[in-house]
Amino acid sequence: MSLDDLYKEVILDHYQHPRNRGQLTDPDVATRGHNPLCGDEILLAVKMDGDVIEDIAFGGRGCSISQAAASMMTESVKGHPTTDASALAAGFKELMSGSGSTEGLGGNEDLEALQGVKKFPVRVKCALLPWTALLEIIDTWEHAPKETAAKG
Ligand code: ZN
Repeated sequence: MSLDDLYKEVILDHYQHPRNRGQLTDPDVATRGHNPLCGDEILLAVKMDGDVIEDIAFGGRGCSISQAAASMMTESVKGHPTTDASALAAGFKELMSGSGSTEGLGGNEDLEALQGVKKFPVRVKCALLPWTALLEIIDTWEHAPKETAAKG
């Protein structure tokens, strides 16, 4: 199997069997990302536990790249602190639009598979869309007034 076929297979798997697709009942932060070039729409919601992304879900519709990228993104950051998620987002952007290095991905092979998309420049925005939405959520969360009192 060629590397290209491997990339396609990984992307297709996430598209056909998306991880974390759905809705959260009581999200702490939610946002909507839109890629007008392709018509992709991503609805992203997170449940936070301190600075850890306790749960994350996405909805919306769009091309296979945007949906597969959203599935991979949620799987990569779920259960991780926002600092790790931000670093991964930066690493992914570096792969897709910067040096093309996979160093910032921490060996995440699914994310590495998306570098096949770089051959189609108009699709790079599709792959970045869920990460842009995630960074917006993290930014909102970090600037939100925190309740000091414990819940419950
Ligand atoms: Zn798209």
